[in-house]
Amino acid sequence: MNSIEMLKTLVGFPTVSRDSNLPLIDFVDEWLGKHGVTAVRVPNDEGTKANLYATIGPAVEGGIVLSGHTDVVPIDGQPWNTDPFELTQKQDKLYGRGTCDMKGFSAIALSLVPEMKSLKKPIHLALSYDEEIGCLGAPRLINQIKEQIPKPEAVIVGEPSMMEAVTAHKGIGAFRTVVTGYEAHSSQTHRGVSAVMTAAKLINWLSEREARFRDATPTNNGFLPHHTTVHSGVVHGGTALNIISRQCEFLWDVRVIPGENALSVFEEFQAFCQEVILPKMQAVHQDADIQTTILADTPPLQEVAESPALKLAQDLAGNTVRSRVAYAAEAGQFQEAGFPTVICGPGSIDQAHQPNEFISIDQMEQGEQFLRKLIHRLS
Ligand SMILES: [Zn+2]
Repeated sequence: MNSIEMLKTLVGFPTVSRDSNLPLIDFVDEWLGKHGVTAVRVPNDEGTKANLYATIGPAVEGGIVLSGHTDVVPIDGQPWNTDPFELTQKQDKLYGRGTCDMKGFSAIALSLVPEMKSLKKPIHLALSYDEEIGCLGAPRLINQIKEQIPKPEAVIVGEPSMMEAVTAHKGIGAFRTVVTGYEAHSSQTHRGVSAVMTAAKLINWLSEREARFRDATPTNNGFLPHHTTVHSGVVHGGTALNIISRQCEFLWDVRVIPGENALSVFEEFQAFCQEVILPKMQAVHQDADIQTTILADTPPLQEVAESPALKLAQDLAGNTVRSRVAYAAEAGQFQEAGFPTVICGPGSIDQAHQPNEFISIDQMEQGEQFLRKLIHRLS
């Protein structure tokens, strides 16, 4: 199976984060088994999803971890021109959900397993679940890898970077806020507490918090945008135009540049709720409430001047480019666990999460070349 056939197979599993990734994991397990490689699963608590890792080659130190996530973002409401879960080639582009983010990289790695017969140092594959909803699956995978595999030289996370080394990424904190108001006829605003209107105030606070980050952060730090961002992507609330709403829920995230901390924004937000907003709500009705839960807190990838991971990625990619990206990824988690880590993978983040997501055939070929050079180097 070549890399494009492998990509077709992987895209065919609709591994949206809210659903199980087990059919894909079963396939990968079987594929590796066929080539004499034993994989280990690291399931979630419910057993509905699993990470998978496998060592190809001898179990010695100095190997390289290739890391990818198996989940993809939803397609709901997106105007696709092709079936998102059926790889479709048009000219030199391959369309499908997850093609660039990031089944392309995993497909290349898996398709090259038959060429990894004479490795002297190992290649470790590490595939995670729930990356797209805050890198929730990777910590248990990384913990187990740290204990079970001989110390690797570096980790390459194959997020789309146009095959250029990425040496820093933002971290992410993800939160859910539930506002509980008090219902009344919408003509009686003096009696009710509107959850929807309260949520609007809180979301406005988030927007203003971002503006303060924007104004206080030096612009030439290599990130675009240069500052920590604060954003709400989902709001649900209310039942009718003429009812003061009892409930409103919204999801928000804080994407931090290295050196800043999403939880400290969460604490400021909590203080604003407790000290400014809640007393006014409860003066109208004592049951009014605001509850915020932390869904994820994932560290940024911190820039290091020199690292074996960076050097390796630049050697294999044949360029000395190094960049920083605004998206969050699992690289910061690997780094936090003590592994030298770099992001380098095929495709562009500009196509990720969008309708008509694609990867170019040229990027697939460059990714293949990159991993073939790695295999050669370790053989
Ligand atoms: Zn990704």
